[in-house]
Amino acid sequence: MSELIPVLAADEIHLLVKSMAQRISVDYRGRELVMIGVLKGAFIFLADLIRQLTIPVKVDFLQACSYGAGTQSCGAVRLVKDIGVDIRQKDVLLVEDIVDTGLTVNRILDHLKSFLPASVGVCTLIDKRERRAAEVPIAYAGHVTEKGFLVGYGLDCDEAYRNLPGIYQLKIQVVEP
Ligand code: 5GP
Repeated sequence: MSELIPVLAADEIHLLVKSMAQRISVDYRGRELVMIGVLKGAFIFLADLIRQLTIPVKVDFLQACSYGAGTQSCGAVRLVKDIGVDIRQKDVLLVEDIVDTGLTVNRILDHLKSFLPASVGVCTLIDKRERRAAEVPIAYAGHVTEKGFLVGYGLDCDEAYRNLPGIYQLKIQVVEP
């Protein structure tokens, strides 16, 4: 048995994304912006974010494994899909769904820096702080929370719930035999 507790409704997410896009459009005006989404969780966020930008942008994706099936971390962070665009001397913005421990983003930042971009920033829809284990230079955060396992708007639990238009906290209830 599991319960979905509402955290952000679709219209609230829309406003958050719009305001982040406005800030990014101002900050990166006149620069060569490449946004890199972290698969799979950031795919809906990135798709909405770029459509609210008022500046040109190039888009790519990479994929890292930090969580296995369910809600538990598998520990080590492994890159399973790399970028294909040339980011040398470009201004890169890494787009994440959630920064939790920070280990995934830091691993990806180290990797991206090896391509010698002009700059690398971090944009995350959710900044979840309770379990932070590594400091992350987050330039844009949509919603800050302490804890809870979130699903919806691209975020999954074992590949389910990504299609929900809002974001929910998933409470898994253990049924006693
Ligand atoms: P970190 O390395 O910061 O601990 O974890 C980053 C990744 O773990 C996120 O990109 C996301 O895929 C996954 N993650 C962390 N917290 C949550 C959560 O509350 N819900 C979901 N669905 N994924 C999460």
